[in-house]
Amino acid sequence: MKSLIYALLLAYLSNGVLSEKFRYDNYTVFRIHMENEEQMKVLKDLQDTDFRFDFWTPPEHPSKLVQVMAGPEDKDDLQKLLTEHNMIAEISMNNVQEFIDKQTIKRYTRNEIGSMTWNAYYSLEDIYAWLDDVVAQYPDVATKVIGGQTYEGREIVGIKISHGPGKKNIFIEGGIHAREWISPPTVCFIIHELLTSPVPENMAAARDFDWHIFPVVNPDGYKFSFESQRFWRKNRRVFSNGIGVDLNRNWNSNWLVHGASTNPSSDIYAGTGPFSEIETRSLSRYMRAIGDQMQMFLTFHSYGQMLLLPFGNTSEPLANYNEAMNIGRRAMGALSVRYGTEYVTGNIVEVLYEATGGTDEWVKEHLHVPIVYCYELRDQLQYGFLLPPEQILPTGLETMDSVVDLIHQMKRFGTMASAGVAGKASMMMLLGIVMEYFL
Ligand SMILES: [Zn+2]
Repeated sequence: MKSLIYALLLAYLSNGVLSEKFRYDNYTVFRIHMENEEQMKVLKDLQDTDFRFDFWTPPEHPSKLVQVMAGPEDKDDLQKLLTEHNMIAEISMNNVQEFIDKQTIKRYTRNEIGSMTWNAYYSLEDIYAWLDDVVAQYPDVATKVIGGQTYEGREIVGIKISHGPGKKNIFIEGGIHAREWISPPTVCFIIHELLTSPVPENMAAARDFDWHIFPVVNPDGYKFSFESQRFWRKNRRVFSNGIGVDLNRNWNSNWLVHGASTNPSSDIYAGTGPFSEIETRSLSRYMRAIGDQMQMFLTFHSYGQMLLLPFGNTSEPLANYNEAMNIGRRAMGALSVRYGTEYVTGNIVEVLYEATGGTDEWVKEHLHVPIVYCYELRDQLQYGFLLPPEQILPTGLETMDSVVDLIHQMKRFGTMASAGVAGKASMMMLLGIVMEYFL
């Protein structure tokens, strides 16, 4: 009898509780206004020490609003703290579960690539199945590539699109933060456009480069955010005092310098050391193999509508900073044409927050990739991670417009120069403008 109860308990734990979806009934998302450094410090301390509160955006600049989610038992504590420190907060979402329920999730039908529609979110298995089918449908130009492995033993699956030898490379990273669900479908949409679009600019973009595209570089985390905890951000490595490393704080570039934690319970835990995680380590090997042939690196996050450049200082790898700013601003102009979506362009310190150890910084510092951007996709401070599925297609379309424009600007301004040679890049940019004027 005892062993039966034990067996039932085990079955319950493994099939029931552990795989059960966590519900966010009556969870509230607050939008908090700060006015000074002191208030910011209060929120920073809270983020560092009290893991009941989920910081959807970090308190890294007093002029920026912060979004924080609190459970029904904890929200009074949060409000009390805010009142004590004269901070004003509005509610941006009441009962988060209601918004989660509106996130349409569809199943992909095997061998029908058209069944991935751009108005729903798809599971990891479905995204991987779609990638397989895309490769099968376009065997002359598309190849399945494995970017690395994960803690739970999965593969980081991507696609290489190549129209022939001798091309420079573009690398696209999606889904490193699990809960940022708009990232993988946007990256999948770029794949779709590169392979199917009849628009001449899109076709030229596809032809002129070799593309290495990975919609979900944190597959363990993404799967967990689908099946268990919607707001999971990190990978799924198990520690004795917490689970998961923020993979975008684990790259070997200014590791643990800013915006990261040493506590495994924190959402911004940087890991036990640079490249302590198999995901970042294995993916970095794939990238190193591309090496100096990588012309552009793009990573897709959400949210905030920002285009971020790595580093906030003027050290060597930043030498083409002004060019990168100009090119980025113009591309965001192209992004806004279709729906009027406004993006802010700037470096990570100016625009968003200080955070180091990200993929973008590593490729800039170690691979000297000339053009490196981090997109923070839609929206601003409305739905946050719970972007309504009807915005997936518009996000994909406007983002593709900007990617094509980035390529156009790179060619126009001759940013094929190496990242370390600012003067040369400036001269080439000037020459580009002069030539365009006369031709
Ligand atoms: Zn992110």
